[in-house]
Amino acid sequence: MYRKLTGTSCWVAFSLFVCFCDPTDPPEVQWYDELLLAEPGNVYEVTFDTAVDSLAVQTEYVGRDQLLLTPLHDLAAKAIIIKADDLRGRVTGKWKRYFQLVEGYGIHHSAGLICQSLASVDKLNRAYLSFLLRKRCELWLHGWNHFLSDSRAEFQGSSYQQQYDHLRMSVDIVQEQLGYTMHTFGAPGNRLDDNTTLALNAIPEIKVWLAGKEDGGLFDIPIAWVTEYPSGTLRPPEQFLSRFDMFRERDAILLQLHPNAYDDAEFGYLSTVLDSLTSLDSRIFMTPYQYYIRVTDRDVISVFKIDETKYRLNFTAAKFGHLVEFDQPYTLSIH
Ligand SMILES: [Zn+2]
Repeated sequence: MYRKLTGTSCWVAFSLFVCFCDPTDPPEVQWYDELLLAEPGNVYEVTFDTAVDSLAVQTEYVGRDQLLLTPLHDLAAKAIIIKADDLRGRVTGKWKRYFQLVEGYGIHHSAGLICQSLASVDKLNRAYLSFLLRKRCELWLHGWNHFLSDSRAEFQGSSYQQQYDHLRMSVDIVQEQLGYTMHTFGAPGNRLDDNTTLALNAIPEIKVWLAGKEDGGLFDIPIAWVTEYPSGTLRPPEQFLSRFDMFRERDAILLQLHPNAYDDAEFGYLSTVLDSLTSLDSRIFMTPYQYYIRVTDRDVISVFKIDETKYRLNFTAAKFGHLVEFDQPYTLSIH
């Protein structure tokens, strides 16, 4: 959250986030909020005010385990991923209370949008959703209409064509209304069938699915059943945290929430568990797509420690742009 370059800002569109660039920055350095957007093909040199670790100098650190020791440790960390379900274009008071709460922790998080609701959204709500996307939130596709019945669901027992159309319309309306490309899907009720697999594979924007199929051709992140019981009722903190511990072997722990169903007590529970989870050294909060791009690139990004305070960050072989956050004050240049 520290950088020394300041000045008037201008807005630059970027496919994933709306980015922030600064006329006094070195050429091509892009910022998102206070975070550096490190782009594939680039090499950056970062100099900290004081030493930040005791790693050997004139040494290259490459591969996930070594990256964890360097200032780029967040890119290799184990993940906690928040999956908050059932957001609609008209953002309710409870959703706003929820967003304020999680944003207060400075963590990345994600919310599943029921996309048809954008068809009738007003200017104020659209502005609110755009504001969220400039913060640390990923919006993902949680169906067009969220239809669920005992025998059938929007993505279970519906034809291929209908499933494809619902996915396509959803991606398109979010692009059109918010200028934002969704990359992640999670089915309403987590109910899906073989047509869902086929339809998703025909939507090139979608790379990640939540609670999908391991062999479905997309990057699947399974849910850790930690948060609610029954669905929509948040477990008290002791229960929540002891169940969380049962999943400690997982690289990513995906937590499903329904914030619009919570009462005052549950909002209190949520603060208590976030106090605890944000203090863990072993994991950090990521969005689903952010986790996917980090897993894809974490073995090919390397760090060369030049001297006690200076590092060369090599994104030459990376496939994606990565948001990078440092714990200490620094200056940056690009090569
Ligand atoms: Zn839902």
